[in-house]
Amino acid sequence: MSYTIALDQGTTSSRALLFDAAGGVVATAQRPFQQHFPAPGWVEHDPEDIWHTQLACLSEVIAMYGVSLADVDAIGITNQRETTLVWDRKTGKPVYPAIVWQDRRTADLCDNLRREGHKNFVQDTTGLILDAYFSATKLAWILDRVDPLRERAAAGALAFGTVDAWLLWKLTGGEVHATDVSNASRTMLMDIRTGTWSDPMLELLHIPPEVLPEIKPSQGLFGHAHWSGADRDVPIYACLGDQQAALYGQHCEEPGAVKNTYGTGCFMLMHAGDSPPVSRHQLLSTVAWTKGAATRSYAMEGAVFMAGATIQWLRDGLGIIEDASAVESLAASVGSSDGVVLVPAFVGLGAPHWDPSARGTILGLTRGTTRAHLAYAALESIAFQTLDVLKAMEADTGLPISSLRVDGGASANNLLMQLQADMLGVPVVRPHMTESTAWGAARMAGQMVGLYDGPMASEENDVFEPRSRSASLDDSIARWYRAIDRAKTWAL
Ligand code: ADP
Repeated sequence: MSYTIALDQGTTSSRALLFDAAGGVVATAQRPFQQHFPAPGWVEHDPEDIWHTQLACLSEVIAMYGVSLADVDAIGITNQRETTLVWDRKTGKPVYPAIVWQDRRTADLCDNLRREGHKNFVQDTTGLILDAYFSATKLAWILDRVDPLRERAAAGALAFGTVDAWLLWKLTGGEVHATDVSNASRTMLMDIRTGTWSDPMLELLHIPPEVLPEIKPSQGLFGHAHWSGADRDVPIYACLGDQQAALYGQHCEEPGAVKNTYGTGCFMLMHAGDSPPVSRHQLLSTVAWTKGAATRSYAMEGAVFMAGATIQWLRDGLGIIEDASAVESLAASVGSSDGVVLVPAFVGLGAPHWDPSARGTILGLTRGTTRAHLAYAALESIAFQTLDVLKAMEADTGLPISSLRVDGGASANNLLMQLQADMLGVPVVRPHMTESTAWGAARMAGQMVGLYDGPMASEENDVFEPRSRSASLDDSIARWYRAIDRAKTWAL
């Protein structure tokens, strides 16, 4: 028997999934851990919590299924990206809590860098928009706090890593200090063209190269995991950031192949081929993965802040539905928004508009408007936002989309998926395998030991074919753009 384990280290919980040789999930374990909000806009995790919950899930998933470690051929790691950790190489102890990707404490530092004129340089070098979201300024902030003169860092006493590097270090007992290229591409310290640390970026932020992990291909031997209670070492054969793992788990391996995760927000990634795409529409250019020394695969990425969260607002803010799944039948009861447009810019607008001062807007209300029309407009808003990002991706990459692969909680909504297919004019494909992130890591690791190369049982899909395009659809898209204009700059 042959099994692989995916370690899926997320923002609110750690998980482990055991996959059999047919690519089916046979056991899962999940442990939430505490979120710390020490000041407004700050979000921290305890690195030890990340490690202990992840290790507990690993042990649990093995015990749960009663699998022998002799039958576990590979571990793949996938993780929350950008979250920044620094630890002491000698003691292995973190010198500061992990600063989570959501944390905004370095926004002022980014503003200063922009004022000093570094915006275009940063984007050209790293493919990213100069923002506090990425690891670079978080790392500089921690070093300023624990080693202002950079002496310990420059002497090699400190180690920096994103969550993948921290888990690799812990799983190998401190033998390996490495990260994969997809995670490194989210630090804002990596040269997107060469896949190596960028000296000018390190200089800009006064980061000594001695703190950095080695950048490795996403697929390949990272090291051997050994932990107390394990009677055998298990090779770690893959490591990649969560969104890139989902892209791989969704089998988006050809240029133009694109997946959208409909969760709290939407995360869209398009495979962009083997050279870095350049965005003129405020999208991110990122490494998708590398396999061994072979060519790098790149991706274009866009995030929408409010997707499923808009449905949560219907439930918790307005109280017009009991639970998220009820939105589908309520919206279907009217079959149109009757001209109502909801722009869910509750926290500003993400890609491709990037307007932090936009605010939520409902337009087109009449005496005939009911909660059902609002429900319909809310679902449409998720599909419209996805349309906006995908059009920007097509424009940036010159690659037309031939289908959209979907996952995430809100992709369970059939009405939304049909609306999306109609709007995009391409089929929307929803795999039965809902664990695309973990599957991406397990698949990439398993392929190193000869698994998962043929067609898998897990590759069955639901397909939503686009219906013929109607004039009313064109009208509603035009209305959406007018509404977006009204929502923009509202809070300036
Ligand atoms: P995350 O990983 O961001 O926590 P999930 O992938 O678990 O998100 O998806 C949860 C989100 O999906 C919630 O915001 C919820 O409102 C939304 N959601 C869940 N079911 C439905 C549904 N049937 N229709 C629309 N939205 C839904």
